Amino acid sequence: MQYSTRILSCNKQGDCCLVELEECRFYPDGSGGQLGDRGKIGDANVLEVLKSDEAVVLKVDRELELNREYVVEIDENRRFDIAQQHTAQHILSRAFEDLFDLHTVGFHMGEEVSTIDLDTSVIDWNIIEKAENLSNSIIWQDLPVEIILEDYENIKKYNVRKISEKIKDYEKIRLVKIGDFDTNPCGGFHVDRTGKIGMVKVVGFEKVKGKYMRLGYIAGERVLKYIRDFEERERKLFELTKASKNDLIAKIQKLSGESAQAKKKTAFLVEELKDKVVEELINNPIAFENFNLYFYSGITELIEVLASVFQKREGSIFIGFDTLKNSVVITSTVETSGAGDIAREILKVFDGKGGGSKKRANVILTRLTVEDVEKIKNNVVDLLKSEKIDN
Ligand SMILES: [Zn+2]
Repeated sequence: MQYSTRILSCNKQGDCCLVELEECRFYPDGSGGQLGDRGKIGDANVLEVLKSDEAVVLKVDRELELNREYVVEIDENRRFDIAQQHTAQHILSRAFEDLFDLHTVGFHMGEEVSTIDLDTSVIDWNIIEKAENLSNSIIWQDLPVEIILEDYENIKKYNVRKISEKIKDYEKIRLVKIGDFDTNPCGGFHVDRTGKIGMVKVVGFEKVKGKYMRLGYIAGERVLKYIRDFEERERKLFELTKASKNDLIAKIQKLSGESAQAKKKTAFLVEELKDKVVEELINNPIAFENFNLYFYSGITELIEVLASVFQKREGSIFIGFDTLKNSVVITSTVETSGAGDIAREILKVFDGKGGGSKKRANVILTRLTVEDVEKIKNNVVDLLKSEKIDN
């Protein structure tokens, strides 16, 4: 939709501007639970549509000239998506009401997923699927969606789902009538036939406010996007597991069982090995005047055990390397050479990130080969000898 209008006010706010138009046809954000319009004013992009009691103000990404006339363009594709989500909501709410006497007490439209809150604290997929089926059959019947303006006294003749007290004062009430299936007062965007929604799908639910069930749903093109995301995830799973459609679940179950077993085995081996490794390290330190230095290369599970042993040992610096994970763990009980200081020194020479306290530090390098380990060991020994560590 395109039209021309003048700028009544333009106030800078950070990198953006708040603009008032002489004629504003933008639907405000969040009004009636619905998403707001987006579009352009000249070259400026509309980022938000804010509504106060006095006026609708548009947040745009550049300054606009006061009193000048601009061409305004409202994004029609977005409007169509909003209409699809909103009409789908009316249908879904009616389906839950007709089938299970569950009333909609809240509605929020999101950029990706929209939600309705139902007045129940329990729900399951069995119930949801029945409401989904009814909703989609209404969509595929391609019923007309009419906008009717009525006096308050007359709206009782329609099968109206929900009448709020505040609409009593309106001169005319805007009703959205979906065939003979549902009629509800609403000021939002709607498609003119239910077929245009394409499909509605509930994608999840959670308990909110301790007493309601919040259902996430999508409609229209969003369903297609959702299926594509699903397919992409599934393709990745097939690649990773080398499974086919028929045995994907079985294969993942097997892998997760194997991984749990491997963890148990590792824990068992660490337990068996640790005393021997500790003894060997303690008997063969790199001795300095006031402390001992210990290096160990191996798996993280054992390094963690050693780190906790040496953290309790006075006058010792321990450095463990796991080349599979490119990780270095450092502990120190030496006042003059903290673990964090040593980590910083390593990161001066090797690419990576990390740090820590005086007692313990962790570093993850972008690469850690056996040769790199030797280099780090030599560097650390030289540094500790020269006592050139920056504290
Ligand atoms: Zn509505």
